[in-house]
Amino acid sequence: MDMLIGGKYVTAEDTEEVKNPYDGQVIDTVPIAHLQTAQLAIDEANKAKSSLVEMSAFKISNKLLNVCEKLTQNREEFAKLLTLEVGKPINESLVELDRSIETLKLAAEEAKRIYGESVPLDAGLNGKGFFAFTQRLPLGVVAAITPFNYPLNLTIHKIAPAIACKNTVIVKPPTEAPLTVMKFCELLNEEFPDGVVNVITGYGSEIGDYLVCSPEIDKISFTGSVTTGLMISQKAGMKKVTLELGGNDPLVVLKDADIEKAVKGVINGAFLNAGQVCMGVKRIIVEEEIADEFAKKLVGETEKLVMGNPLDKTTTLGTLISEKAAMQVEQTVDMAVKEGAKILTGGKREGAFYEATVIDNVKPDMDLVVNETFGPVAPIIRVKSLDEAIEVANDTEYGLQAGVFTSDYSAAMRCANEIEAGTVFINKQSTFRTDNMPFGGFKNSGVGKEGIKYAVEEMTKTKLIGLNLR
Ligand code: NAP
Repeated sequence: MDMLIGGKYVTAEDTEEVKNPYDGQVIDTVPIAHLQTAQLAIDEANKAKSSLVEMSAFKISNKLLNVCEKLTQNREEFAKLLTLEVGKPINESLVELDRSIETLKLAAEEAKRIYGESVPLDAGLNGKGFFAFTQRLPLGVVAAITPFNYPLNLTIHKIAPAIACKNTVIVKPPTEAPLTVMKFCELLNEEFPDGVVNVITGYGSEIGDYLVCSPEIDKISFTGSVTTGLMISQKAGMKKVTLELGGNDPLVVLKDADIEKAVKGVINGAFLNAGQVCMGVKRIIVEEEIADEFAKKLVGETEKLVMGNPLDKTTTLGTLISEKAAMQVEQTVDMAVKEGAKILTGGKREGAFYEATVIDNVKPDMDLVVNETFGPVAPIIRVKSLDEAIEVANDTEYGLQAGVFTSDYSAAMRCANEIEAGTVFINKQSTFRTDNMPFGGFKNSGVGKEGIKYAVEEMTKTKLIGLNLR
């Protein structure tokens, strides 16, 4: 598949194979762009700015709805490609498609709601006799740099609000899974003027870095790891930056919790997309009194998961993005076992597959839970009290989302108030998001919020216009 720049398909001498992590088959190849091509994308995106600024919000909204309609018509085909390049079960890919369609609809609606406000200058000293109002204006060019795990929906979370508020976009998809996004951008390009959306493939450390450093880009909207996010924040200069980074989300299960519900929460939260979810359940903090019962029930449910060909509708656990990624998970779990943790089920790797693994007696200082383990692992940390549960939950550099299971409202409210995370769910695992909610973490999990309305706020600038009526 080729890059899309200024409405034209562009290739490069060097290419990279995109492989299916399930069977190693090459699905397609993509160009590895040179920096000159990145500059071309920047030029085209800048040239196209006026075409969007001149377009009415009504028209932009309708065009986004047309793209939405086309994506809906091609839902199955897109889902299949997504499964081929990421290795996630086809049913999960279909859910990602449904969410992508929803995200686009939300952006089409939001395009019609980009309001300023009147400002009472007479509330300030010497402000009597003025009338003032604000406008929300596009920033210009937004660069969207995105990760492999939910490549389509997470990219739409950037492109759709950017266009809704009249920014042009350059997308740098992940090298391991760029195809679904590239195909989606073709749909956008059929609707919008050339250069409104541009896609450039190549290595993040070169092409991504070039976009981040360019003074001709107005905003970097990045989703990915903390390491890359930190680098971007140091290099972006004066441009606006949104960073949606990694998570190490706790799931606190207190002694009065509905254990079945909490177990279900872990099955979804720790094993969805083979555990490669930023808001995945990565630390299960359980009160000692119920830990044995909880662990037993969790093992029972975990062993019902079906590992297999991700295209098969009965598969509930697919591969990781690559064999290398699965090996990293294997090493981290093995190290925890050496340090005293105990595998209750799972713990084996085959190629890019890693079994759904429940591991008990995990201590808060083990690598497995200090860093973000991006795989299907459910580590149980036993604690003696609510105080200790909150302390362990906060003992991390991350703060994306959190979940608490309890039937005690005062304990729930303490967790909600004291756990340092962008979202705390009561009686729901952290692995839950609707595409309109403000989403974004505290601490090293990021800067800024997504969720269409909130992304639009971060992709516009406010101008005040004041009239002297004295
Ligand atoms: P990553 O390695 O940071 O890569 C993300 C994107 O950044 C890719 O497109 C990558 O390109 C590019 N990139 C790499 N180095 C760069 C640089 N120096 N400058 C600019 N761009 C650069 O992350 P990942 O492994 O794909 O994704 C997994 C991580 O994302 C996890 O930590 C996960 O928790 C996090 N995540 C967060 C959210 C959220 O909303 N908070 C959602 C999903 C995932 P290449 O592919 O070419 O290297």
